[in-house]
Amino acid sequence: MLKIENLTKMFGGLAAVNDVSVEFEANKVNAIIGPNGAGKSTFFNLVAGTHKPTSGRIILDGEDITPLRCDYIAQRGVGRTFQTTNLFEQASVLDNLIVGHRLRTKSGLWDVLINSKRLQAEEKACREKAREALNFVGLSHVENQFIADITQEERKRVAFALALATDPKIVLLDEPAAGVNPEETEGLADLMRKMVQHGLTVCLIEHKMDMIMGIADKIMVLDHGEKIAEGTPKEVRENPVVIEAYLGS
Ligand code: ADP
Ligand code: MG
Repeated sequence: MLKIENLTKMFGGLAAVNDVSVEFEANKVNAIIGPNGAGKSTFFNLVAGTHKPTSGRIILDGEDITPLRCDYIAQRGVGRTFQTTNLFEQASVLDNLIVGHRLRTKSGLWDVLINSKRLQAEEKACREKAREALNFVGLSHVENQFIADITQEERKRVAFALALATDPKIVLLDEPAAGVNPEETEGLADLMRKMVQHGLTVCLIEHKMDMIMGIADKIMVLDHGEKIAEGTPKEVRENPVVIEAYLGS
């Protein structure tokens, strides 16, 4: 469903992503691993359109989305999580979802602030969408709490809900379990499994190997911007090149 062809991103003289070609299958958990600075987040930024590649193509369901602006790419069905530090601390979980949804869809911030009749109807639909996403990630019980008052793990779930509120086909999750304990990590893994059960395609960057090995259908390994391996968790774990570059270190 997502086909990457010879993707390269240069930052000055540095190839952050270097001639990467890969295909991610629909309705699967596709993982990307690699050491710090390997180019994983840059890869996501390219897919989401936040950065434009130096060369190469990104094909989503047969459509070349490489030249599209990031909001159009989001409309095509590419959702992503943002860092939980970007949430509005002194606003409720639900309001964060509503505003986040607005900012990622057609209406800008001004539309959120100007409360015309037409927008009231949109607002209602938006609120329902937000509630649906919160229910999906298991946060309905804290929807009226301030972000500042919820746990780290709940913040992660808010990030998931934000990514889901735009009705994506594929979600890019950049280290979604960073800073949560093993038990909570398992809960987040369950949530990703649930996403796949509901027809979503998950694309996951994660450092926690136990989680990756337990959840990924396919893994791509990046090192210094290059794809050095890909395969099932078992294949990757047993690949000498990977052990040398990453797992062994
Ligand atoms: P990872 O997510 O695998 O840790 P990144 O994609 O964040 O790696 O970074 C890959 C390389 O690209 C790093 O060397 C990083 O310093 C560099 N890099 C990332 N973003 C930028 C940027 N906006 N400008 C310049 N260099 C960048
Ligand atoms: Mg990163």
